[in-house]
Amino acid sequence: MANYDFDLFIIGAGSGGVRAARIASEHGARVMVAEEDRVGGTCVIRGCVPKKLLVYASRYADDFVDAAGYGWTVQQPAFSWPTLIHNKDAEIARLERAYMTTLERVRAKLVKQRAVVEDAHTVCLADGKKVTAQYILIATGGGAWQGNSIPGLEHVISSNEAFDLPQLPKSILIQGGGYIALEFAGIFSGLGSKVTVLYRGENILRGFDDDVRQHLRMELEKRGIKVITGKTVTAVQAGAEGYYSKLSDGSMIETERVMFAVGRMPHVKGLGLEAAGVKLKDGGGIAVDEYSQTSVPSIYAVGDVTDRVNLTPVAIREGHFFADTVFGKTPRPIDHENVPTAVFTTPEVGVVGMTEAQARQRLATVHIYKTTFRSMKAAMAARETRIFMKLVVDGSSDRVVGVHIVGQDAAEIIQSVGIAVKMKATKADFDAVMALHPTAAEELVTMRERAATFENGAK
Ligand SMILES: Cc1cc2nc3c(=O)[nH]c(=O)nc-3n(C[C@H](O)[C@H](O)[C@H](O)COP(=O)(O)OP(=O)(O)OC[C@H]3O[C@@H](n4cnc5c(N)ncnc54)[C@H](O)[C@@H]3O)c2cc1C
Repeated sequence: MANYDFDLFIIGAGSGGVRAARIASEHGARVMVAEEDRVGGTCVIRGCVPKKLLVYASRYADDFVDAAGYGWTVQQPAFSWPTLIHNKDAEIARLERAYMTTLERVRAKLVKQRAVVEDAHTVCLADGKKVTAQYILIATGGGAWQGNSIPGLEHVISSNEAFDLPQLPKSILIQGGGYIALEFAGIFSGLGSKVTVLYRGENILRGFDDDVRQHLRMELEKRGIKVITGKTVTAVQAGAEGYYSKLSDGSMIETERVMFAVGRMPHVKGLGLEAAGVKLKDGGGIAVDEYSQTSVPSIYAVGDVTDRVNLTPVAIREGHFFADTVFGKTPRPIDHENVPTAVFTTPEVGVVGMTEAQARQRLATVHIYKTTFRSMKAAMAARETRIFMKLVVDGSSDRVVGVHIVGQDAAEIIQSVGIAVKMKATKADFDAVMALHPTAAEELVTMRERAATFENGAK
């Protein structure tokens, strides 16, 4: 048997890489991990974690206002962006240390430099050193893609810079209609910026259920976020107090900042994949099978670099199952069905399973249940916001195949509902559950009236 320096070399210490390192080490593998930036990856350093902290910060604005309906008198609150960013950075540094401690605890060796693949068993470090391993795991994640080049693109920030702006912009134009664009729209709007969202398609949040898209757009507009669809930014020019964005219809918008969140690209460039024989999919992600194995048997890939379901818990599980499969002698294929997901706008979105459109395409009979209502909390605060809930049911089996929520705590609710959907619960099972009163979530088990039935895709 060949004598390798390590049993496993992992490129990238993000969500997928660190989990794979821990589990493989616990199975007895000798592991080396290379990280060219900060340990923790996108989620911890410039993704989910800082994003959610800023979302929390942005929601205090509503709480101060709503408190009046409950008898509180709140002095004019003041907000400090530098304090928020300082505290956010301290929390990220704490988490980064926790990730490093995990690697130390399992005795995985960390090298803080870029690594690229040289061949099926060799990795080359930035300092020129070559390291051999029986297996290589590529967990390099992805990065913001700013779209096709336009004049003035250098003035445009991505989500990376948005986390560290020196001050809160008075106004911001955000191009993009996906979850990152909308979450930042909610953050900046909640903190006091004037926000315009610009999206080239017909409606925001492509890929989500149409009712969710419609409802969320209405709610964001009610909160003062301007949503422009069917247009793009064609040029950005610096002005005295910000930037002028020229739109595809010839009109101009002036804002203090311009941000694009129009897509993400897997980090595959310059990794030596082609020379090593690692095949890519159309669109650029690394092609892998259900065990995350690439076209080269000793090279695996997990997380965003494979462009399957680009979420942290998915990357973590892919890393975990890879390690169990290769070093734990337990083949564990990854299952990407019914992954619960959220959009942390205000109000937030939580969904699991099929949209109505997907169900109507795939199933013979589809039953739809939906409701909109004002929550008890919002009513007394006199806040004009409505919660939306929808169940998509397979009419043949009575299985609930999709749950869609727009409203406060939607993400927390959908995590639990995801268990029921994964367990193939039926509408009758939902109905059999006693409501927990008074909550918003009780509506999920009290929707009795069917809103629509679709047979063979027809109305
Ligand atoms: C703004 C934003 C918000 C998000 N919010 C959420 C959310 O709420 N919930 C959720 O589930 N997901 C969210 N995500 C997605 C989530 O962050 C990713 O799905 C997740 O981080 C992917 O993990 P990963 O291990 O594949 O890659 P990453 O975490 O990106 O880690 C890859 C690591 O590899 C390193 N690297 C790259 N190339 C090399 C190289 N050649 N040599 C050495 N190191 C290298 C990188 O520096 C990086 O640290 C968000 C993403 C963004 C950008």
